[in-house]
Amino acid sequence: MPLGNKRNSIAYGLTAAAKRMHRYTVYRWLVGISFTLSIALLSTSGMMRFDMWGGRHLYLGQEVGLVEAAKAFAFPFLAINIVIIVVSRFLGRYLCGFVCPVGALARLGEWFRWREKKSHVRFLQASSLFVISLLLSAITFTFWVSWDVFVEGSTLAISLSASALLGTALVFFGIVSGLGLRFCRDLCPSGVYFALLGTETNNGISFPHPDACTNCKACESVCPMDLSPRELDLEPVRQGMGLYPDDLSNHALCIRCGDCVAACEGTTGRNETPTPLHMGWLHREPANAEKVAELTKAGRADSDS
Ligand code: SF4
Ligand code: SF4
Repeated sequence: MPLGNKRNSIAYGLTAAAKRMHRYTVYRWLVGISFTLSIALLSTSGMMRFDMWGGRHLYLGQEVGLVEAAKAFAFPFLAINIVIIVVSRFLGRYLCGFVCPVGALARLGEWFRWREKKSHVRFLQASSLFVISLLLSAITFTFWVSWDVFVEGSTLAISLSASALLGTALVFFGIVSGLGLRFCRDLCPSGVYFALLGTETNNGISFPHPDACTNCKACESVCPMDLSPRELDLEPVRQGMGLYPDDLSNHALCIRCGDCVAACEGTTGRNETPTPLHMGWLHREPANAEKVAELTKAGRADSDS
């Protein structure tokens, strides 16, 4: 199981040894924070809100009726879904690896656990994860319910709203601190949807330079999806686990997080080119297939002995 101490010590230990964040970690935070702030701004600025409590729907700063709101929201929702379908179909699951705030928070939780053993610090870390989960819940809540409910609502409306707000925060907190990236690996319904869309993509992880591979297997140890990044072109390996159908290709399961490439660059030397693994358009040189089989077979023989 790579999602334990071994994954964390390799994934975060290499970053600590390099004394700087890997570029994929920087991209992940920039994209994740920008995406989350954009969603928050949509409703707080009055651009869009579908108010399920008071019917005070907002569109471009104006209060509109239910039918007008439904019409106005249809186009942006359709456009967002088209972007999701196109990105997932042609590029694969970069939305999971680089955009999803829940995945980013789960990584933050992993990093906290890896860094600190003292109980009072762990308490502070857990508290900050809960506060961030509450903020995420508030961002979601603001889109669907006006905060006026807490001033003008009946006791029942206030109780239901508070329960929804707190319940959602607890679900986020349970995911990021309890399940962590196991949630992405086995249970996320959006992940399954993106995986089904991306079964035929030509973008993701490939192994274009097997001659440079030292067979250290760091890439396998850090993969949050339990994949073998050097062998994604082979038969599906994740069968009978979680919500994912058995016959999904390894490329469809890969969340394009880049952890395997980061580990590979960390162990083989980031400045030495070419590094064995690559993230981007797939390199599928037939001549490499034999070398891959030789290396991974040798690796398995080492582990068995
Ligand atoms: S194969 Fe690499 S990019 Fe894909 S999920 Fe595993 S670690 Fe992430
Ligand atoms: S591809 Fe890179 S990380 Fe994976 S076994 Fe080879 S050298 Fe190690």
